[in-house]
Amino acid sequence: MAHALVVGAGIAGEALAVALARDGWRVTVVEVAPEIRTGGQTVDLRGDSRQVLVDLGLIDEVLAHLVPQRGIAWIRADGSRMAEMPVEAFGGRGLISSEELLRSDLARVLHGAAGAAGVEYRFADTVEQLTDTTEGVEVRFRSGPVEVFDVVVGADGSHSRTRSLRFGPESAYRKPLGLAHAWFTLQEGPGTPLLDGWALSYNEPGRRGLTARPGHPGQQEIGMTFAASTVPRAHDARLAVLDDAFHGAGWRAAEFLAAARTAPDLALDTYDQIHIDRGWSDGRVVLVGDAAWCASPLSGLGTALGLRGAAELAEALRRHGVSAEPTAERIRAAFSSFEQVMRPRAAAAQKLLPGRVRMVAPKTRRGIRANAMVMRVVQAPAFLRVVRFLAGGRGHDDGAGPEPSRPDRSRQAG
Ligand SMILES: Cc1cc2nc3c(=O)[nH]c(=O)nc-3n(C[C@H](O)[C@H](O)[C@H](O)COP(=O)(O)OP(=O)(O)OC[C@H]3O[C@@H](n4cnc5c(N)ncnc54)[C@H](O)[C@@H]3O)c2cc1C
Repeated sequence: MAHALVVGAGIAGEALAVALARDGWRVTVVEVAPEIRTGGQTVDLRGDSRQVLVDLGLIDEVLAHLVPQRGIAWIRADGSRMAEMPVEAFGGRGLISSEELLRSDLARVLHGAAGAAGVEYRFADTVEQLTDTTEGVEVRFRSGPVEVFDVVVGADGSHSRTRSLRFGPESAYRKPLGLAHAWFTLQEGPGTPLLDGWALSYNEPGRRGLTARPGHPGQQEIGMTFAASTVPRAHDARLAVLDDAFHGAGWRAAEFLAAARTAPDLALDTYDQIHIDRGWSDGRVVLVGDAAWCASPLSGLGTALGLRGAAELAEALRRHGVSAEPTAERIRAAFSSFEQVMRPRAAAAQKLLPGRVRMVAPKTRRGIRANAMVMRVVQAPAFLRVVRFLAGGRGHDDGAGPEPSRPDRSRQAG
């Protein structure tokens, strides 16, 4: 039986593991964390994500985890609203959808399906060395053992170790966008301002943004965005960076800084893109998801691309009959088909709308007000009528306008 090693039990890795195991592969997943990682904000099911989950037969299970949401509002320091966009805006095609679930719930559903399909896991471990042999790829794990796999898939995110081992240092592929983002889960207490289903977004001059979004009952998912191209790794140093960036900021900044200190799932990372022009595979090793093409949270497409990439890689391996006969030629052909399908999608996602970074974290008060005004204007009936007219005057009034720029991916991918 052909044996695949998937490095990383994230969204792309788990989805791929499910598909391969169902196709008759023996699949091992190695994940550096001691268990499936929780945390992260919501995943939008519109578009590709939904289709891949339908194809995997998991959509009903996923839909059972939807977070009830009413929309997004841009607020002032005192919490009053400058603009809002309900989930009904643009006929359901606005920034926030009624079909979103937490990334951690999606990860759990995929993990459950992978377990049921017989996928084997090695948690708290990673790959240390990848060596080509005539038999396959010889993998030395950090925990010591050495095993040979027919195929190794790096699904270990934007800071992929598989990529570093096989393709060279991250610096050769990383394009920082100049912003960093912290996210964590806040437990509501007696004095916590409630969200009532609304995602709230607050900006301070100097490229600083705070978001609070509905999470599981009694919880809020917090995002803190600020200007930076690198962030430290150590926990205390991370807290110090956040303190520096948000010291004296308005709205709930002080409350969030205090909550970050005790949040078990605090994560901090830069907004980066990964561009690998030389191709995503090397022999029997291939990259998928953020490891290959991270478009950054600002694209709003990380999860959709991860899921679609996993589906296309599994499909290419299936079409080339690799599980039955995992020869180097078949594997090369499959990886090449996979890349042909995914390259244009990834490249399109990486083309951010002009001014996207500035919009997420404006520099000045004027920029913050201008953003809010744009959000009001694009929803105004008169504006929508003009757009419809310019677009060729579609007769019926279906309430659907142009899809505005994708949301601040302090919220998750679509
Ligand atoms: C905990 C978490 C929270 C996130 N929250 C957000 C968010 O709020 N907004 C947003 O836009 N994007 C977020 N992301 C990124 C988003 O999940 C991805 O852009 C998208 O889903 C594509 O997923 P991926 O599987 O390629 O990468 P990821 O989802 O990043 O998964 C990569 C997996 O690989 C594991 N890994 C990393 N290094 C190694 C290693 N050396 N060996 C083995 N395993 C390794 C990681 O622990 C992780 O489980 C988050 C990712 C994680 C892991």
